[in-house]
Amino acid sequence: MAYHANGQLMDAKVSAVKQKAYLKSGGTKCPNCGSASISAGSSEADGTSAFQDVVCLDCGSTWTEEYKLARFGDLKVPTHN
Ligand SMILES: [Zn+2]
Repeated sequence: MAYHANGQLMDAKVSAVKQKAYLKSGGTKCPNCGSASISAGSSEADGTSAFQDVVCLDCGSTWTEEYKLARFGDLKVPTHN
């Protein structure tokens, strides 16, 4: 698997197979080389989505994990006496 220096171009060409494999691994393996030596960086939320930068410590690839709002839980409504 070739390493592309231009991460932006590579990002648009990520195959559905790689997407599935990444989800199946729970986001624990590099989409490029399969290494488990990955490190999550900063994250930011944007409305119903959240994004987190991830870097592979073995091949140097970087990518962004995307999270979608799924549900809410643990609602606590204050009681007014
Ligand atoms: Zn890698």
